[in-house]
Amino acid sequence: MILLDGKKTSEAIKQQIASEVAEMVANGLRRPKLVAILVGEDGASKTYVNNKEKACQDVGFDSEVLRYPDTITEGELLAKIREINEDEGVDGLIVQLPLPKHIDEDKVINTISPLKDVDGFHASNVGKMVLGEPSFVSATPYGIMAMLEHYNIDTKGKHCVVLGRSNIVGRPIANLLSLKGNPGDCTVTICHSRTKNIEQHTRMADIIIAAIGTPHFLKEDMVKEGAVVVDVGITRVPDATRPKGYRIVGDVDFEHVAPKCSYITPVPGGVGPMTIVSLMRNTLQAMKQHK
Ligand code: NAP
Repeated sequence: MILLDGKKTSEAIKQQIASEVAEMVANGLRRPKLVAILVGEDGASKTYVNNKEKACQDVGFDSEVLRYPDTITEGELLAKIREINEDEGVDGLIVQLPLPKHIDEDKVINTISPLKDVDGFHASNVGKMVLGEPSFVSATPYGIMAMLEHYNIDTKGKHCVVLGRSNIVGRPIANLLSLKGNPGDCTVTICHSRTKNIEQHTRMADIIIAAIGTPHFLKEDMVKEGAVVVDVGITRVPDATRPKGYRIVGDVDFEHVAPKCSYITPVPGGVGPMTIVSLMRNTLQAMKQHK
C-alpha cells in the first residue's frame, strides 16, 4: 500500500508556485492577489479562510480577507463583489460558504466574475469544465486530479465509484474522471443517499472517491483488493484528548481499508492540503490571464 501524501505533494506544488511568483516579482510584475469574503462567525469557515490566507503568504501572494457580520444584506454583498470584479489589482475572489440563509448563494457565486472565480463555482466555469474546455476547476476535484497525476496512477479504462454528488466535490470529480485524458478516461458511477446497495458498486471499483461526510462509512468489506481510495471526508468528532477538543475523521475506515489498497489518502494530510494548493494554482492562473 502506498500512501497518497497530500502534505508532501502540495508542498512540492507550493514551492513551484513560490518560485514562479519570485520570478514574476524579479521581472517587475506585481504579486498575484486573492481576496476572500467571510460572512458571519462560523468557526470552520474562519479556519478555512485563515488556512487560505496562510497559504497565500507561503507562496508569496498578496491576500485580503473582507469580514462582514451575518447581518449584511444580499444587496450589500453583491455590490462589494461587483466592486472587486472591477478592481484590476485583484486576481482571484472567493466567498466562503455557507452563507446566512437570507443570502442566495447561487446569486452570489454567479455575480463573481468568471475570470476571478478561482473557486470554480460559477456556472460558466462549471459548464466549461464539463465540456473539457479550459476553466477554473473547483479546488478539491482539481487537487484530487493533481494527486492522481503526481503519483502516476493509471486511470485509463478504470471503473471509478464516486460517493457523493455535491456540486463542489462529487459531481465535478465524476465529470473530470470521465473526460478524455490522463487522469481521466474512467468509467464512472456516482452513488448518493438514494443509491441502493452501495457496497455492490464499491466492491467493483478500481478507484473510490469518498465524499459524503459520514465518518468511517467505507469499510473493509466494501473495497476490493488493490483499489485506489481517495478520502475527501472531513468531519469534526469531539475528542477531549485533543487540544482543540475535536479530531478530524474521514469517510474511510482507514485502519481496516488501507491494507487492501494499492494507494490511499490519509485524513488529515491527504485531499485537504491538495485543495488549498489548488486554489493557489487557480489564483496564479487568473493573474496570468489578466496580464
Ligand atoms: P454535501 O454537499 O453534504 O454532499 C454529500 C453527498 O453525499 C450528497 O450527495 C449526499 O447524497 C451523499 N451522501 C450523504 N450520506 C450518504 C450516505 N449515507 N450514503 C450515500 N451517499 C450519501 O458534502 P460535500 O460538500 O460534497 O462534502 C463531502 C465531505 O467532504 C464532507 O465531509 C466535507 O467536509 C468534505 N470536504 C472536504 C474537502 C477537503 O478539502 N478535503 C473539501 C470539500 C468537502 P444526496 O445528494 O442524496 O443528499
